[in-house]
Amino acid sequence: MICLFGGTFDPVHAGHVHAAGAVSDALALAKIHMLLSARPGHRDEPGASVDQRWRMLELACADDPRLYPDDTEVRRARRLGRPSYTVETLEEYRRQTPDAVLVWVVGSDAYRDLGTWHRWREVFELCNLLVLNRPGAPLQLSGELAAITQARRLSGAPGEPAGGVLVLDAPMRDVSATRIRQALRAATPAGERFSAAVEDLLPPAVYTYIKQHQLYGVVSDA
Ligand code: ATP
Repeated sequence: MICLFGGTFDPVHAGHVHAAGAVSDALALAKIHMLLSARPGHRDEPGASVDQRWRMLELACADDPRLYPDDTEVRRARRLGRPSYTVETLEEYRRQTPDAVLVWVVGSDAYRDLGTWHRWREVFELCNLLVLNRPGAPLQLSGELAAITQARRLSGAPGEPAGGVLVLDAPMRDVSATRIRQALRAATPAGERFSAAVEDLLPPAVYTYIKQHQLYGVVSDA
């Protein structure tokens, strides 16, 4: 089984690490691919570059032997000269491992938007989806996505290469990268130590990296 957990990881945070651990427990997997998306960050706020996001992901993964930083999508985007769509990344994996059980991990907030993804119906032909119940994002689906989800719903670990949807009921942490970026920005002008706002929400090495590199508008007092 190959398990891919894709994200912008701007920055990778404790919610991602916790979620990856829960997936690894639920599927009895020794390795979760943390797949960095080359999508640019948020235009209206200071974000981190792809290289910085990659470095932070490497640091977070170094703390947990189950997490493997995966740059497939970043390398693909460089080759193409544009961000790679999820469906294309999945096709690349499928070509390399035609018979493997492939699992794409996605939060409930992102899954609700699946119908807007490029060639989204094909995603179900290429992989299984594992949906994380993210706090504040109940899985209320409608229309075709609701029907497809119901028809493909699994009650246990996927056994086929593709086609199933498993909703994980393990509790997730209420952490988001948007809120972390906002907290970092808000803490700085007031001269507060930003540590109180975000230290518990980030892997320690990522927290140190953000301070050292003054990312997200942080003016470090360290
Ligand atoms: P942003 O706030 O910038 O949108 P984010 O916190 O959602 O960022 P992403 O890198 O966009 O982080 O998320 C990657 C994947 O991880 C998505 O599928 C998202 O739903 C999921 N995810 C993010 N945070 C959590 C969390 N706390 N618990 C479970 N899943 C999460």
